[in-house]
Amino acid sequence: MATTTQTTTDFEALITAMRGPAILPADDGYDAARAVYNAMIDRRPAAIARCADVADVMTAVRFAAEHGLTASVRGGGHNAAGLGVWDDALVIDLSPMRGVLVDPAAKTALVQGGCVWGDVDHATGGFGLATPSGFLSTTGVGGLTLGGGIGYLSRRYGLTIDNLLSADVVLADGSFVTASEREHSDLFWALRGGGGNFGVVTSFEFRCHDVGTVVAGPVLYDIADAGDVLRWYREVLPALPEELNGWLGLLTIPPAPPFPEELWLRKACGIVWCYTGPPERADEVLGPVRGFGSPLLDAVMPMPFPVLQSIFDALYPTGLQWYWRADFFNEISDDAIAIHEEFGEQLPTPHSTMHLYPIDGAVHRVGPEATAFAYRDAGWAGVIVGVDPDPANAAKIKDWAVRYWDALHPTSAGGAYVNFMMDEGSDRVQASYGRNYDRLARIKASYDPGNFFRINQNIKPAG
Ligand SMILES: Cc1cc2nc3c(=O)[nH]c(=O)nc-3n(C[C@H](O)[C@H](O)[C@H](O)COP(=O)(O)OP(=O)(O)OC[C@H]3O[C@@H](n4cnc5c(N)ncnc54)[C@H](O)[C@@H]3O)c2cc1C
Repeated sequence: MATTTQTTTDFEALITAMRGPAILPADDGYDAARAVYNAMIDRRPAAIARCADVADVMTAVRFAAEHGLTASVRGGGHNAAGLGVWDDALVIDLSPMRGVLVDPAAKTALVQGGCVWGDVDHATGGFGLATPSGFLSTTGVGGLTLGGGIGYLSRRYGLTIDNLLSADVVLADGSFVTASEREHSDLFWALRGGGGNFGVVTSFEFRCHDVGTVVAGPVLYDIADAGDVLRWYREVLPALPEELNGWLGLLTIPPAPPFPEELWLRKACGIVWCYTGPPERADEVLGPVRGFGSPLLDAVMPMPFPVLQSIFDALYPTGLQWYWRADFFNEISDDAIAIHEEFGEQLPTPHSTMHLYPIDGAVHRVGPEATAFAYRDAGWAGVIVGVDPDPANAAKIKDWAVRYWDALHPTSAGGAYVNFMMDEGSDRVQASYGRNYDRLARIKASYDPGNFFRINQNIKPAG
């Protein structure tokens, strides 16, 4: 059947069958419904199926399959490459499915597939619990989890997928399964890093940990100190207790409170620390790292974990232009430091930044082949992001990110975290799954032989 010439009658059948609305190009709200976090993405789907529940997801999957429509799956809509929406596709939009059910006795959380992390942090935080996620509260649970999930709690409690106990999944034929270590264990292996390739996850069951008040925040140094900070950071971080996480960024100090006005728009190198251990040991553990060098600002302080999770949200609202490039790094070499110094000085706009996130501690204790996430033995996940509100600066931020990445890539481990990649082609996807790619392709062939779920960092079905 044709893919782009659906009649109104065709979609009326979908509209009738769904409990949630299906939004068509002529409808009010179509432009808002097709917009995603990255304003560089401007795609025009054939329809957006706003799924109210699992039955709606099954209906939408079957409808797309029967009508030969491309399907894209939208969780939080944060993906760099905008893979939640696609031209002429049926968007299976999970955004109404944002329920979270916490079991405080079992320390688990059942999280619907359209949640963002703020939904989860709010619900679990009420019980002094948390599961590892990322560094922002507006990111979607669906995409972040299925790609792996790197965040403040990773050194202590592992990636998000290391805390996934089970997942409810609607498969390409519209059927519904639960995947865990006990049921569909091959699918469960693939979901833990393999992205949206295997089905629509309608809910995730996570293990939670006692995380209440943390001692956290940024320590910022002048950009001229970036080389010294990086040389110190690469040595000190792996030796720190796992209760302490610290990611490093090159940035421009935002021109707004709570940053002191004399520092506004100054380029900086910073480490955002997060200590989750016993409060009485906080000074002992944090003292040595806060004592390094001559910081411009030390804003490390006690705060509830959900506050830390949302502390940078306002700096990066929906609707900015984003261009991403990424790699894993086994080490931060002297060559890499020289490149960071050069491109950190050239940050093209105030929102543009480079981050290095630690991959160690509990992440290293899971084998590289135990889940689909292959780069367990790396030291850091790096990401270069050109960001700006003005579309006129799109070329400028992209050019900086590409030149920076071109220079840095030879110092990398080869592949990237799939959640930090743009649409970069199948060689990059294969490099990012490394030794796990062939097994992923075989599982793809058994669960989605027709590659129905292909609007993602795509794993082609084997054979
Ligand atoms: C500002 C910002 C900060 C970020 N910080 C972090 C971080 O700290 N740590 C980290 O690990 N990552 C981080 N990321 C990357 C993030 O993990 C990815 O962008 C991820 O794809 C976002 O998931 P989403 O559900 O919001 O995306 P969407 O755009 O909705 O979807 C992304 C992909 O996932 C698939 N997908 C989403 N939900 C489901 C589902 N329920 N079932 C099946 N497939 C699904 C989609 O089909 C699509 O291919 C960040 C991204 C941004 C923009």
